[in-house]
Amino acid sequence: MGAVVALQGKKILLGITGSIAAYKAAFLTRLLIRAGAEVKVLMTPAAAQFISPLTLSTLSKHPVFTEVAGAKGWNNHVELGLWADAMVVAPLTASTLGKMAHGICDNMIVAAYLSARCPVFFAPAMDVDMWQHPTTQENVQRLQKFGNLLIPVESGELASGLSGKGRMAEPETIIQILDRHFSSDLPLSGKKILLTAGPTYEAIDPVRFIGNRSSGKMGIALAERAAALGAEVDLILGPSRLSPKNANIRVHPVESAREMYQAAIRLFPQADIAIMAAAVADYRPATYQEQKIKKQGTAPDIKLVENPDIAASLGQQKKANQILVGFALETEDAMANARKKLKKKNLDLIVLNSLEDAGAGFNHDTNRITIIDQDNNYTNFELKSKTAVAEDVWSAIIDLYANRP
Ligand code: C5P
Repeated sequence: MGAVVALQGKKILLGITGSIAAYKAAFLTRLLIRAGAEVKVLMTPAAAQFISPLTLSTLSKHPVFTEVAGAKGWNNHVELGLWADAMVVAPLTASTLGKMAHGICDNMIVAAYLSARCPVFFAPAMDVDMWQHPTTQENVQRLQKFGNLLIPVESGELASGLSGKGRMAEPETIIQILDRHFSSDLPLSGKKILLTAGPTYEAIDPVRFIGNRSSGKMGIALAERAAALGAEVDLILGPSRLSPKNANIRVHPVESAREMYQAAIRLFPQADIAIMAAAVADYRPATYQEQKIKKQGTAPDIKLVENPDIAASLGQQKKANQILVGFALETEDAMANARKKLKKKNLDLIVLNSLEDAGAGFNHDTNRITIIDQDNNYTNFELKSKTAVAEDVWSAIIDLYANRP
């Protein structure tokens, strides 16, 4: 299955009707939850004979309603209809299809459907002859005419033993259709993002290295945010004990600046936007000692040589349609130095980290930044969580992208 990016945080109302395909709704629920969606389930009494409401309430972590009014009173279908970002009826039987098409409101699903203001997807499931019957076809067209979205049936083996059209679409297909629906309104949909994050380790001998205190938190937060905004993300991550939670982020683990450089050079040509958030070691030991250096009475001289500047190299290769963003961590003349780096490395934006605030910069959960552009415009931000800082950085980049000639 391809990357599912747009279902994060979406509220999905899933209606299950009485078909043998109802068992697949359990898989669908699981995939939706895994994609970050919140799911509430409605079932017809017939569906509850095929699959237990307990299964669905356990998977969705919400109560499942099967009746408009039951022993515990009236269930609020209006509220559910308004709560959802999308309603999905899967599987949809010929019977409930007919009721939806004609407003025959004798179950919880039709009641919620008639109250819903969100897009409604329907995935029919029935035997081939029922599917081909003009009544069914007319009802499908009627639902489509009202703006509801058909998830097409598939061909193959049917529960009756017959073979033909009428199988419910596979849960993976339904997920892809929903993802595509929500992706189209995400600002980074279809964009490829390259990120560097974390420290680099420059080996002295098999056990020792020169490194720094970068945690990778800021870069990982930027990667998570980009993925949530619909982007395809490649994250080149130096040795960090952290990793992104979103499984769609492709992580390329590296150790040294030279490894990070090679990965960045390889991935940059395909990227629309690159953010250099790594704390790359400027120098590495000139020679690597194959054996562990022993104590010899006199301290060894470790000669250093300069590492490649990844941001500057990408800046040289940058095409007119690519955006390159860097970070700067300064202890003196912060603005002037950040501006110099922006020019020298041919960056479009530079994010200046303040070291003056307790709680900002390396290894903290919070950060305070200033974003500077090529025209010397700058915006100061408050001290915030790195997650909130990532939102600000992406807003600035999206603005820049939108205002490109
Ligand atoms: O270390 P410096 O202050 O020059 O870092 C500024 C920017 O350049 C940061 O975005 C950092 O990730 C990037 N950089 C790099 N390769 C280096 C040094 C820095 O990509 N060797």
